[in-house]
Amino acid sequence: MGMNYGNYIEVAVALPVHGCYTYEVPEQLAPKADVGMRALVPFGRRRVTGYILRKKNESGGIKTKKILDLLDEEPLFPGAMLPFFEWAAGYYIYPLGEVIKAALPMGLTSHDVSVVKVTQKGEESMDKLSPGERDLLAHIRAEGPLPVKLLVKQRWGQGCLNLIRKMETSGLVSREFQLKKDGVRMKTQRFVRLVNPPEKGARLSQKRKEILKRLEHGREISVAALKEEIPTAPVLVTAMARAGLLEISQRQVFRDPLGDPVTPDTPPTLTPEQETVVARVKENMGKGFRRYLLSGVTGSGKTEVYMRLVQDAVDRGLGAIVLVPEISLISQTERRFRARFGKRIAVLHSGLSRGELLDQWQRIAHNEATIVIGARSAIFAPVEKPGLIIVDEEHDTSYKQETGFRYNARDMAVVRAKIRGGSVILGSATPSVQSYFNTCQGKFEELKLLKRVNQNPLPEITLVDLKKYKDARGWDRLVTPELGGAIRNTLDRGEQVLIFLNRRGFATFPVCESCGETMTCKNCDLTMTLHMGAGEFRCHLCGFSVPANQACPHCGSGRIKPLGFGTEKLETVMKARFPDARVARLDQDTGSRKGATVSILKKVKHRTVDIIVGTQMLAKGHDFPFITLVGVICADLSLNFPDFRAGERTFQLLAQVAGRAGRGKSTGRVIMQTFSPDHFSIEASRKQDFVEFYNKEIPFRRELGYPPFSRIIQLKISGTDKDKVAGHAMAVGRLCQEWIDRHQGEGVPVQILGPIEAGIPRIALRYRWQILLKGASVARLNALVQALIRGRITFTRKDVRVAVDVDPYSMM
Ligand code: ADP
Ligand code: ZN
Ligand code: ZN
Repeated sequence: MGMNYGNYIEVAVALPVHGCYTYEVPEQLAPKADVGMRALVPFGRRRVTGYILRKKNESGGIKTKKILDLLDEEPLFPGAMLPFFEWAAGYYIYPLGEVIKAALPMGLTSHDVSVVKVTQKGEESMDKLSPGERDLLAHIRAEGPLPVKLLVKQRWGQGCLNLIRKMETSGLVSREFQLKKDGVRMKTQRFVRLVNPPEKGARLSQKRKEILKRLEHGREISVAALKEEIPTAPVLVTAMARAGLLEISQRQVFRDPLGDPVTPDTPPTLTPEQETVVARVKENMGKGFRRYLLSGVTGSGKTEVYMRLVQDAVDRGLGAIVLVPEISLISQTERRFRARFGKRIAVLHSGLSRGELLDQWQRIAHNEATIVIGARSAIFAPVEKPGLIIVDEEHDTSYKQETGFRYNARDMAVVRAKIRGGSVILGSATPSVQSYFNTCQGKFEELKLLKRVNQNPLPEITLVDLKKYKDARGWDRLVTPELGGAIRNTLDRGEQVLIFLNRRGFATFPVCESCGETMTCKNCDLTMTLHMGAGEFRCHLCGFSVPANQACPHCGSGRIKPLGFGTEKLETVMKARFPDARVARLDQDTGSRKGATVSILKKVKHRTVDIIVGTQMLAKGHDFPFITLVGVICADLSLNFPDFRAGERTFQLLAQVAGRAGRGKSTGRVIMQTFSPDHFSIEASRKQDFVEFYNKEIPFRRELGYPPFSRIIQLKISGTDKDKVAGHAMAVGRLCQEWIDRHQGEGVPVQILGPIEAGIPRIALRYRWQILLKGASVARLNALVQALIRGRITFTRKDVRVAVDVDPYSMM
């Protein structure tokens, strides 16, 4: 038999295949191999990344291949997280290896590029090749091993794939994985400290004295900060350090993107309400799975409660994960956590570079940081013992991932806490219908903060009925006299105004004056928006654009009427109507780059802007104390969406926008213009009363059998060939129906809606169909889809793709 070391591992590969594979670990790698590491494994003809799930003593009687290499020195995630990954793969019906790949920071998947290299044989047979082959070989030889994707892009096009494959078979080239190390590090800065005060009477230049003065009382200052006042400081401190006066050290810095350093804070004394909530959660901390819903208007002190509980978890030797909504910048919440916990925190969000993300990830994996704050994907943070998981603004839709691995981080937070036996808190001023329903069912324990900490009243909200002005002309239709008057008063008092409109661009509905056709995108079934500044019609789905001076593609007429309005038009109207005011706009067009957003927000903060016009980007996470008036141009925009959550979203969005008013010392005012002042979503948002909203909404959901009274899995069928997509959708639909018929009478019924064409039938040249599977038991729906995957239909055909969306948010 020879020697048998019994070194086997089970891995999940980062490929769209369901199931795990066993490999043998060569003797020299065996001592190092551990669960949570990546291994390079042979898979068919390729080599791919595999994630080590388990170590085993035997192969289980299967013939195994050997792994080629270990890609990590230390595990990227603790083995204890495996059940969580497995749950996610099962529930969301997504391959385990792809789940893990999605969970790890981006920098770590960049290793998976296969590169093409010239072999010895290739070198030797250079003169016997066809011109095409020689050309390619010469190129690779000159440039070094090249990623296949790059070759395709650079010059050879898709055709070169076949060529490469052919040359690979004849041994002229080989493919391998290039392991690229990401070199980016955390941001550090030089700090100086006084170590040896100069002797009395020592002769020093004025500038050096100034530096010493600033470092009195053991203060530590960054060189960059000194430089702002004393431009020659960098040179001077280096000299002074050499003379032994100062000490310079490199330190990791967390800087606020708005430019203010985060200063450490001290916890305030809790209010009696906060005390009750904190005590309640503490009481059960570390005693197994507990779930809570914390509701409380903005300013009621939720964040302070979170911070106390995180501290408590850390004191018990546990870790904590805090999820916050994804915004383009660091949020107020994140800033405050940094102020409280400093270096003990790791931050994970899309604003970080890949290198920074990797750094943060490793600090968590090595237990250097036990508190993690971040957006959606932070739910995968490799915290070893997450005793507490908090989801702030739990209703926020950014917790739902809408592409690839379609998961909901809020729901996964609850599952991770359950598997681990920890506490989870979902918090919001406007809890989702789902979470409040769970609370009413007794699944969650409700915690409430009813009063604002500073006793400030909530902003006063006035509704203006737009129907009254439907015959008005020009500006008055957009900005009613009520809103206009309030803006005038606010400006006259020297305060700031925020105007909200959830639609960008200048004209959102350009129509040809001659033939009446709209300007539609050539890739999507959607009207394009006129962007005046950019001088083009743009599609907001695929980004396609045409020059604004173009003639009508239907009749050739040059007269296109710019109907419909977006933030760009609103900005012009504001400028014209309030010529003395400084107007700025924040939306995806003006703030697409991080730097641009920061500079606009800075202007608002430093009050060099009087009126800020914008979309949702303004609604979340920022704190502007001098905004005392918020105007909502059209509160109903999101109400008319063909989606059962339209009312819920509208309520939450309006309550959130309204919450931007009066965050400073003075009371705020909100004016909401609406065509449906009597709609309960709008009325409830006026009162900022989510229980009232919930009580009105829930009968509709029950009546129509929508969540939370049912569960939904959506199958999204798409492809570039219209007929094939339709045909495949029908076939999948039939298979679903057959399964339902076959399992008639067993367990909870499943209902099938569709197949139907999607709300937007074509996006970016792909035709779209969908099927909704609805039923009271998600396990049942899951069983159906799993059966389809195991059965005849292939979910990843070349020409038609079927994506599975469990608990979907977007019905379009
Ligand atoms: P929420 O997260 O519910 O919006 P915050 O925790 O942000 O509420 O609290 C609102 C404001 O009140 C913040 O400025 C915070 O610093 C302050 N605050 C919170 N709790 C207390 C307290 N116990 N004593 C004094 N100030 C507090
Ligand atoms: Zn026309
Ligand atoms: Zn388009």
